[in-house]
Amino acid sequence: MPIPIHDPNHAPGGALKRLPLLKAAVTFIAAVCLCLCALLYFQLEQSRRHDLDSARVASANLTRAMAQQAQDTFVQADLVLASLADWIQNDGFGPSTRPRLQQTFARRVQSLEQLHGLFLFDKNGQWVITSFASLHRGAGIADRDYFKFHQQNASLIAHVSPAIRSRQNGDWIIPVSRRLNDAKGNFQGVLMAGIKMSYFDHFFRSFNLDAKGEMALALSDGTLLARRPFDESLIGQPLAEEHIYKHEPSSAGAGDAIIRSAPDGIVRLYAHQHLQAYPLVVTAAMSEEAILAGWYGTAFQSSLIVALVVLGICLFGWVFVRQVRNSERIEADLRKAQEALELIATHDSLTGLANRRLFERALDVEFGRGARQRSPLSLIMLDIDFFKRYNDTYGHVAGDHCLAEVAKVLKSCCHRKADLAVRFGGEEFAVLLPDTNLPGAMALAEQIRRSVIDKNITHSGSPTGYLTVSLGCHAFVPSSLDSIEVFIQRADSALYQAKHGGRNRVAALSMEDGLCALERSDR
Ligand code: GH3
Ligand code: MG
Ligand code: MG
Repeated sequence: MPIPIHDPNHAPGGALKRLPLLKAAVTFIAAVCLCLCALLYFQLEQSRRHDLDSARVASANLTRAMAQQAQDTFVQADLVLASLADWIQNDGFGPSTRPRLQQTFARRVQSLEQLHGLFLFDKNGQWVITSFASLHRGAGIADRDYFKFHQQNASLIAHVSPAIRSRQNGDWIIPVSRRLNDAKGNFQGVLMAGIKMSYFDHFFRSFNLDAKGEMALALSDGTLLARRPFDESLIGQPLAEEHIYKHEPSSAGAGDAIIRSAPDGIVRLYAHQHLQAYPLVVTAAMSEEAILAGWYGTAFQSSLIVALVVLGICLFGWVFVRQVRNSERIEADLRKAQEALELIATHDSLTGLANRRLFERALDVEFGRGARQRSPLSLIMLDIDFFKRYNDTYGHVAGDHCLAEVAKVLKSCCHRKADLAVRFGGEEFAVLLPDTNLPGAMALAEQIRRSVIDKNITHSGSPTGYLTVSLGCHAFVPSSLDSIEVFIQRADSALYQAKHGGRNRVAALSMEDGLCALERSDR
């Protein structure tokens, strides 16, 4: 049987083992929650990118369609201008040809839906012929940008100018014009086709676009020609998002970017496409809010589900941790109770010394150890002299107090950790001294005897007048053949010798010479 001295570190299945379980549980729960959040993040990020990529493709298709439509519109007008310019340069626009020219102008305008009108101006910017029945009379158009351009540039290529309001009827038009030369190559006038801005407006409106979306046609320098939604104040102004396509490095002349629009603060995906034949660009923009509308819904639902799952896991973790802590507390209480019981079962309540049960266990262990290590084991037996008389004289309560005082002496004299002071029974005590030979045991016994005398406890029933004790010592090197009972009996015999010799003394029984040695030590 092991010595039941309790070791707090020796707790099978106790706190030492439970601690990593708690940490592991918390780490596992945290890792699961983190993984769930990370999964949600990656899944949402992926679907967001997918939605944006789809919108990019849709925007690119839209701008390609817009570019094609714009190119067709301008090419058709330009072809009309080119054929008319050839005709005028050959036949001139003298009074004889004017009626026929006017009819041709009118027919061409009727045949092309996008045309607002066709206009011929002389070198001073005065109306010569128009597609309208009545010729407009006014100050002329010498102040218009396109007129000045042709006046100053010899190029005979078609020129597209910023949108203007027609002086004929006030409609918004985009002028496409050509320079006319006489036979010598001198500036003879300008032929202009006005393209209805409303034509683009109708075309732009035929597409499904979100409420915050935008479509626009602009000159390559960013000057706005037509726009959905229509805003008259912006016509002729530079596009706010001009920078995204102005420095376009792509050779295809197309691209996209997500930017926050400066005028209204709305984040949009802007796609653009430059026209191949004309210095024009088309742009289409969808608001990020509309692109990601479906995604926001999914993200909200998924986040809610993950949040609920995480909450559930945390709740479960909290309950689990509480359970573990509770069981730890219960276990600690039980351990304390066990320790207390152990103490009660192995110690004497009056003196606090070990009782016989613990003494017997210790003897068992020390016999084994002494036999293995061939080391001597000593036992001191102590009996208070004339204690019956003490009780009779001072009463049992004083007797108990006296026993406690003697016990204190024993405790103070046992310096080594392995020494064990025991209340053997009644007013008899024992001290077990492992690894101690007889002289050592006798020296300690003498020290105890003197210390009891030094307590100076008055005992009128004793011949000395004060309390004394008798001690018997026995020492031997145990072997597996020796019995504990014999060991105790021999120490008891030595005590008997001390009593017999006159009390208040230390007697020893040594196995080496088999003799009883008596030693008297008076004060
Ligand atoms: P001796 O010198 O021969 O030992 O004489 P003695 O009177 O001490 O004789 P004995 O050892 O037989 O006396 C034991 C006495 O110890 C009897 C009893 O009154 C007393 N005693 C035993 N246990 C207790 C105890 O727990 N408390 C008190 N107060 N007295 C006890
Ligand atoms: Mg006795
Ligand atoms: Mg006695």
